[in-house]
Amino acid sequence: MSASRFVVQLHDATTLHFDLRLRFGEVLRSWAVPRGPSLDPAVRRLAVPVEDHTLEAGEFEGVHEGQARGSGAVIIWDEGPADILRDEPGHLSFVLHGRKLTGGFGLTRTGPRRWILVKTRDDAAQPGSDIVAGHPASVRTGRTWQDLAGRHA
Ligand code: MN
Repeated sequence: MSASRFVVQLHDATTLHFDLRLRFGEVLRSWAVPRGPSLDPAVRRLAVPVEDHTLEAGEFEGVHEGQARGSGAVIIWDEGPADILRDEPGHLSFVLHGRKLTGGFGLTRTGPRRWILVKTRDDAAQPGSDIVAGHPASVRTGRTWQDLAGRHA
């Protein structure tokens, strides 16, 4: 097991999506999760791998200028310590210690640009819950992405 950090940003780009980032050394391995994480172990969420990001990118909350589509608004939807339990070529398992996301999760590669994010069945699991709908705001500032997009418009 190795100690790490995670951040989940909510990003209004071409489509609204979540960016899950896990720290490995000096980079953030990253996946775009269109529908966001879930605490319900029965829910499987598509996670599309994207390029590694800098540690600095994981600190960003604001509006990216000059996006072709979408407002460019980004909020830090959740963040905190993470423990990496397994790191294999097509599979990662980790425990998150965030404000919204806690307990174990698995990321498993199912295709060339397709991974699946699933909550582990553990004490932190909340079957039937919808953490994305229930807790939309930034854990740093309490703002929603719409607050940022609207302020910018
Ligand atoms: Mn993004």
